[in-house]
Amino acid sequence: MEKNNIKKTVLTGDRPTGKLHLGHFVGSIQNRLKLQNEAEKSFYMVADMQALTDNAENPEKIRINTLEVAIDNLACGLDPQKTTMFIQSQIPEIAELALLFMNLVTLARLKRNPTVKSEMKQKGFGEDVPAGFLIYPVSQAADILFAKANLIPVGEDQKPMIEQTNEIVDSFNRIYGETFGHVSHLVGETPRLVGTDGNSKMSKSLNNGIYLSDSDEVIEKKVMEMYTDPNHIHVEDSGKVEGNVVFMYLDIFDSNKEEIIELKKQYQKGGLGDVVLKKRLAKVLSELITPIRERREKIAENPKAVMDILQEGTKKAREEAIKTLNEVRQAMKIDFF
Ligand code: ATP
Ligand code: MG
Repeated sequence: MEKNNIKKTVLTGDRPTGKLHLGHFVGSIQNRLKLQNEAEKSFYMVADMQALTDNAENPEKIRINTLEVAIDNLACGLDPQKTTMFIQSQIPEIAELALLFMNLVTLARLKRNPTVKSEMKQKGFGEDVPAGFLIYPVSQAADILFAKANLIPVGEDQKPMIEQTNEIVDSFNRIYGETFGHVSHLVGETPRLVGTDGNSKMSKSLNNGIYLSDSDEVIEKKVMEMYTDPNHIHVEDSGKVEGNVVFMYLDIFDSNKEEIIELKKQYQKGGLGDVVLKKRLAKVLSELITPIRERREKIAENPKAVMDILQEGTKKAREEAIKTLNEVRQAMKIDFF
C-alpha cells in the first residue's frame, strides 16, 4: 500500500458495455465514494476505447452505455465536484501514451496476463483475438499514468493490470529517466462478487448480474432463480451452505450477521426452505438498490446535464494528459517542435 506521506491521486473507471451491477458496487464503487473524500485528486473514466476492443462492431452499444455508466456512478454518489469524470476516447494523448508504452511490453507477457487469458477464453477468441483487445493492459497503463494516479480502486480481476502497469513504470523509468511512480490497487470488501448463476464473477458480458437499475420485481425474479444446493429438494432435507449463492449474497449484503449464522445452522440441519431465504435476500437487495434506482431515474431525465459533467471533466483531465505527454516526449527525445 502507498505510504501515508504520498498524496493520493485516485483513478478508476468502467467499460461502457452495459449498465452497472452489484459486482461493481461492492468491488469498486464503494471505494470510489470513500476515496473521493480523501484523495488529493480523484478521476473517473468511462473506458469507451477499451470497451470497443471487443465490441468493434457495436459502436451504438458503447455510445449508449457511456451515458448509462456515468448515470450509475452519479446515482451511487460520485460527486463531480470531487471526482473529475471524463470519457477516454476524447483524450487523444492517452492513445499516444499507450502507443509509446507498447514498445516496453512483449507479446509473450501480454499473453501471460491471467485476466486477458481468461477473458479471451470466455469470449472464444483464440488466435483471432483483436490486437486492440490483447494490448488493453497497456492502454490501461496509459489510462492510469497520464494522470500520474497512484491508487486504483478495482475488483480483484484487475490486479494483473496493475502489476503490468508497474512493470511499464519500471521499464520507462529505467530507460528514459524517473518519470512515473508506482501504482497500488485497492480492492473492495468483496473483491469478486459471484454471478447469480454461481459463475465466479458477476459480469456484464455473462448476463448473470443484478443491476443497480433493476426493479423490485426483476430483483425478486433473479434471486428466485439463484443457484442454491441442488440436493436440497425438500424443506426438511439438510442443505449445503458452502457454494450456495444465496448464502454468499446474504453474507455480503445482509447486515444482521447473527441471524444469518442462525439461518445457516437451520439450513444445514434441515427444515428451512430456499424460498424463505430467497425472499429475505430479495428484500435486502431491494432496500439497497431502490434508492440508487430512484436517483438514477431522476438523473436520467436530464442526459444533457450528465454530458455537460463529462465534457467539463474531460477538459480538465486533458490538461493533465497534455502536461504528462510533454514530459514523456521530452524524456523519450521526441520533443522536436
Ligand atoms: P465486462 O464484462 O464488459 O468486462 P464487467 O462487468 O467486468 O464488464 P468492468 O467495466 O470491466 O465490468 O469493470 C469495472 C470495475 O468493476 C472494475 O474495477 C472491476 O474489477 C469491477 N468489477 C466488475 N465486476 C465485478 C465483480 N463481479 N466483483 C467485484 N468487482 C467487479
Ligand atoms: Mg471487465
